[in-house]
Amino acid sequence: MTDIPSDISDEHREFSEFLRSHPLHTLFTGQIPSTKWGLYLPIYVHLFCSRCSRETAFQTGGGLARQSSGGGPALEPPPASVAFRERTQQIEYECVTCRGGKYVFYVHFTEGLKECQKIGQSPPPWEDTRDERLLVKFLPRQKDLWRRGRYCEMSGLGLAANAYYRHLLEDSALEILERLVSIMPDEDRATLGPTVKSLVKQKKVSDLLKIVQDSLPLHLKKRGVENALVEMYEIMSSNIHAGIATENLPVTEMERTEEAKAIRNMLVFLLTVISTGQEEIEAFEDGVKRLRKIREKHVASRGSA
Ligand SMILES: [Zn+2]
Repeated sequence: MTDIPSDISDEHREFSEFLRSHPLHTLFTGQIPSTKWGLYLPIYVHLFCSRCSRETAFQTGGGLARQSSGGGPALEPPPASVAFRERTQQIEYECVTCRGGKYVFYVHFTEGLKECQKIGQSPPPWEDTRDERLLVKFLPRQKDLWRRGRYCEMSGLGLAANAYYRHLLEDSALEILERLVSIMPDEDRATLGPTVKSLVKQKKVSDLLKIVQDSLPLHLKKRGVENALVEMYEIMSSNIHAGIATENLPVTEMERTEEAKAIRNMLVFLLTVISTGQEEIEAFEDGVKRLRKIREKHVASRGSA
């Protein structure tokens, strides 16, 4: 992974994160990095490169910015007589590794660079990310729900995003569980098998999630993951029901979007646990095979000698 320099300023860090993951059409409330000339963009943003198939540093490039004397790219200073009014900027970044991956952000700034919001992005933020590839690897049937959820989340539609993620989870709880069970020690697999089958028949998602939760490796449980899955499911359910009554909503749409993001991150976390577990098992089995092969070779050569 190509890392972004660690001495990046707080403003640039915050603005990078805004470009990277903030929902479209919602206000950025942080400090917009600027000089007396106008915007002072972060040089690097960490993004997923579909060509390199990984997250890596992207650099400002294209025709947008010229190198300023400070080493960072800045926009052309506006003519002195023209005040900076509301306007939309096209901000481009390209992958520093392959130079082929590109992102374009369309950001609308209010006068005086007081506020801004992303009004567009290419490729769209709900398409082809590292997390989506992970999801498709293990839950290929869920790609459509995932994309819809991502679309809503990245458009600031938290309630709808919650609904899609809940649907996805209900639909795939069993698959997630089966995959988690498959990376457990033999004795745990034998105990859990029958329980899982009966819960699947009853379609009790929260009970299934409880098992998923209880089955997590000990070192993950200790890191506050315990009870989080059931809690996550309850939040999704309560959000959807609360959404029907429009008065006295317990949380704002933006807060719901934050929740949807947290829920998605937890789903990704589970898939990562599965993926890592499977890779470890495969590496172990591969190692055993190699050892046996070497042994067999030597036994055979001794036999023939
Ligand atoms: Zn690349």
